[in-house]
Amino acid sequence: MDIYYTISFFIFGTLFGSFFGVIGSRLPLGESIIYPSSHCTNCGHFLRSYELIPIFSFLFQKGKCTKCKTKLSWKYPLYELATGILFSLCYVLFKFTWPLIIGITFVSAVMIIVISDIEYYIIPDEVIVFSSILLLIELFLIHGWKASLLHLLSGACSFILMYGVKCLGDFAFKKESMGGGDIKLMFLIGLVIGFPMSIITIFLSSFIGLPISLFILFYKKTNIIPFGPFLGIAAILILFTQFDFTMFLSLLGA
Ligand SMILES: [Zn+2]
Repeated sequence: MDIYYTISFFIFGTLFGSFFGVIGSRLPLGESIIYPSSHCTNCGHFLRSYELIPIFSFLFQKGKCTKCKTKLSWKYPLYELATGILFSLCYVLFKFTWPLIIGITFVSAVMIIVISDIEYYIIPDEVIVFSSILLLIELFLIHGWKASLLHLLSGACSFILMYGVKCLGDFAFKKESMGGGDIKLMFLIGLVIGFPMSIITIFLSSFIGLPISLFILFYKKTNIIPFGPFLGIAAILILFTQFDFTMFLSLLGA
């Protein structure tokens, strides 16, 4: 039975991932996320239902528009695949318990943020605000008002800490070292994984980001690299592994 649920979560994830691709690529431009329906950006051809199947449509069409044969971005099926994997991992790790709802909400918000940060170097305020409110309501319903207040405080502390890091960076590099979106994203991360752990997210994201950034700098000849995706990956890793820094310290002391 478990495997059927895992597969179902994967399929739902790819469908949601397809929708997140639309949100992430339209919201930063101020476009409607509902109208017009998905179309080829080159010839305007509206996609029929069989051209909207996550991952598969891209493979069957060999990555080209069925009408004008323009190459489609491989990033969209990758977003669908990533969301599918993350949704099924949420189920595998949390099963049908309350944290599953928080996991799915957080992973969804992070995916939309990662997509718009990769596409436009923008982390939309709307996503941060909407998902924070939704997560606070979920935390309140699951853990009560005391715990949700602590989570809110964790978010605020993480936000202030990240702002401090940015000020230090600006001073050290004598230029804007970090976008405002990354600081707001830290609020969302702190809200979900708690305050001391959100510090680990910053270190872990730099650790993951460094080799990838060097690779992009070397091959793409661009010097703008979004930091949001690395923060998002690090936070999801910590959420999934339930890595607890305080427990880790007490283990070292023992
Ligand atoms: Zn086309």
